[in-house]
Amino acid sequence: MVKDAFRCVECSEKAAELHRDYKNGILKITICESCQKPVDKYIEYDPVIILIDAILCKTQAFRHILFNTSLNIHWKLCVFCLLCEAYLRWSVLHGARRSSHPADIIRYTREWEFYSTFGVVALELAAFCGTALCFLWIWVQVQGVRGVQVWVRGPEVRPVDVGLLFRALLLSSYGKVLLVPAVIWEHDYSPLCLGLIKLFVLTSNSQAIRVILNCSRRLSLTAVCLGLLAETCVSRVCEKLPWILQEGPPP
Ligand SMILES: [Zn+2]
Repeated sequence: MVKDAFRCVECSEKAAELHRDYKNGILKITICESCQKPVDKYIEYDPVIILIDAILCKTQAFRHILFNTSLNIHWKLCVFCLLCEAYLRWSVLHGARRSSHPADIIRYTREWEFYSTFGVVALELAAFCGTALCFLWIWVQVQGVRGVQVWVRGPEVRPVDVGLLFRALLLSSYGKVLLVPAVIWEHDYSPLCLGLIKLFVLTSNSQAIRVILNCSRRLSLTAVCLGLLAETCVSRVCEKLPWILQEGPPP
């Protein structure tokens, strides 16, 4: 077993194991040496309870999922959410431009519109994750050089594991699955739906960053806000490029 492969869900201290097997069917949950509480109480819990706690943005549930499980669905989840978001935007665009003219019908059924929308959505996600990760990486480097820990609590400035942080950002965007009902049902209230879903996803993203780096809420919120700013900039730039979604590729 890898030493210190797990984390205590209560205090984020490293732990070598979550439970110990005493044979004859006797298992005992490991107690954290730092806080004297079970290292990971969630190993006994039903997945639904864990999901509810994750929806409530509890740090313990986030630590369990991000540190103590090998949940490896972040890429599939990411592609699924991107497809849903792209379809929603594409269908809204399609509906807004519905026309009875035969030429328009042919034009609007072109697949490239969907693919380009998917590309824009993927680009926005890349901008969000890239900016947030860059900011956090630079911030932790600066903190390490200066030796001060203004916004980072805990005994040490934890080095940024970019891979782990990226996985956390993608996994914590699971709220985008809520786009599925918005896709299935009406689009009339999609701006409100999208806004609420966005707020929930950003809150989860912020909590995931906070858990991974053991940092303050202020730092994680700043990273998320910068990511959102970059995402909005990319979105605006793409809107200004008429050949992407409006007029088709240049002849
Ligand atoms: Zn502990």
